[in-house]
Amino acid sequence: MSDVACGKRKETTIMSDKKYTIHKRVEKKDEGAYLRLPFKVEEDTERIDIVYTYEQERQTTLDQQVIHHPNATVDFALMAPDHRYLGSSGSNRKHLFISATASSAGFLRCDVRRGEWTIILGAYKVPENGVDVVYTITLKRKERGLFKGDTHVHTIGSDGRLSLETIVRQAQDLCLDYLIITDHNDFAMQADLYTTDRLTVIPGMEWTLYNGHAGFLGVDRPFAGDFVARNREETEQKMTEAEKNGAVVVLNHPFDADCPWKWGFDVPFDAVEVWNGAIAERNRRAIDWWHHQLLAGRHIPVTGGSDFHRPDLLSAIGVPTNCIYAPSKSRADLLQAIRRGHGYIAYTYDAPELDIDCCGLSFGDTVPSGAEITIRLTHLKGGEDVHLITDRGERIHPIPADCLHYSLTASFPGCRFLRIEVAGSYAKGLGKKLVLLANPIFFD
Ligand SMILES: [Zn+2]
Repeated sequence: MSDVACGKRKETTIMSDKKYTIHKRVEKKDEGAYLRLPFKVEEDTERIDIVYTYEQERQTTLDQQVIHHPNATVDFALMAPDHRYLGSSGSNRKHLFISATASSAGFLRCDVRRGEWTIILGAYKVPENGVDVVYTITLKRKERGLFKGDTHVHTIGSDGRLSLETIVRQAQDLCLDYLIITDHNDFAMQADLYTTDRLTVIPGMEWTLYNGHAGFLGVDRPFAGDFVARNREETEQKMTEAEKNGAVVVLNHPFDADCPWKWGFDVPFDAVEVWNGAIAERNRRAIDWWHHQLLAGRHIPVTGGSDFHRPDLLSAIGVPTNCIYAPSKSRADLLQAIRRGHGYIAYTYDAPELDIDCCGLSFGDTVPSGAEITIRLTHLKGGEDVHLITDRGERIHPIPADCLHYSLTASFPGCRFLRIEVAGSYAKGLGKKLVLLANPIFFD
């Protein structure tokens, strides 16, 4: 059963931010004390904004002149649920915010965890009759969004040509949402310092040995000691250690002619980089291998990365672009989405966009057998072929030349997985090439 539609899709946004206030009466006897005001933060909060007000000045009028008198001085500081002190603003600022990717000047960035947070109220100067302090707290809910990035980038920290600063600037110019820095056996770049609310910069390493390369994504220091593994056992130990330390472990370009993965695939890893740089034979072989793993019942997420070293005809940041759906673009949420295969790979950052839905579940998830899947493609150029690939075969849906948005609802009874590829001809005289490759949705 299938239902195809071509046209414009309406986007809807659900705003579910939560706002509440804390009223605190500060008495004269509190002067000189630091008072602790707890407040609750729920699961799936992306950002906390706190605005606080109190009568800092009193006004009197004398001979029709308004005169301002100091009234009270109330300081502000903030603690996270794990008792981590995040910063202080004295009494000068009335609006402060905290999130994983950006915080008010002077405050640490941090994941907004569920639990009891604490405002430290510094009662520096309090008038005889006391002062009322009102805190308005807004909790911004996380919302599933599409985040585009590059999972495999080299800098002058190893054999790249460009500095980290230049690469970050280029990624921002491309409007990428995240960037994972993966210099060879190098963890000295302190990439996280470059994170802003526009671009999440994630530390990583391309663990590089003569028997293959693996991305250790998301941690400053994936292993203790040096990088050398002399045999398969030590290779497994290193990969296990990196995973335990929180890294997403990706087998990079496993079928590359020069640097293939030679340790076999029975090692601990989270994902495979099947699309490395411009589409080429190494990628076709990797996709073919991956498809056979899916047929054998293995659930292996795939990633794409540019392996950018220096600008040239076939190499650029974001070629390909790794597109993932995550609740926010915090480092933790992005890495978890990569680990779970929640997205797809596109040939570049402005390629067509794909989403699939089955009652709120999507790429990388498992849904009931025979359930209806809705597939939506937007920002098409027209004339692409959509390949619906399952363990029972492949169907090709040609997209009309004037169709820019396309949707299809269908069920795939008896299938164990569905994955999607899109092929398009975007350069004059060239045949259709792979422009998009998605992680599968699995059936019970
Ligand atoms: Zn490599």
